[in-house]
Amino acid sequence: MSVQEEAAVGEALEVWIDQDLCTGDGICVQYAPEVFELDIDGLAYVKSADDELLQDKGATTPVPLPLLTDVVDSAKECPGDCIHVRRVADRVEVYGPDAQ
Ligand code: SF4
Repeated sequence: MSVQEEAAVGEALEVWIDQDLCTGDGICVQYAPEVFELDIDGLAYVKSADDELLQDKGATTPVPLPLLTDVVDSAKECPGDCIHVRRVADRVEVYGPDAQ
């Protein structure tokens, strides 16, 4: 892997939702419907790149670069403080309740 490729991988981000804290208000879905969706249980889940709802506990999906601002805003506005955005490379949270 080239240095450039390593840098790109290092910047790659993924997002997951802690459904135990989700209030179901749907703010995240308003910001980034490509990434988040409310299920019939009234809670928000992340979706895969091919639009599949990911319901396993702690399931992550990649954050597409064009949607980064929308996803970060979702994490900031989330009333449940339960949207976690982290680096793929080292799983360090960069936006969300556990970010430094
Ligand atoms: S913004 Fe947060 S609390 Fe609201 S639906 Fe999305 S994940 Fe749940």
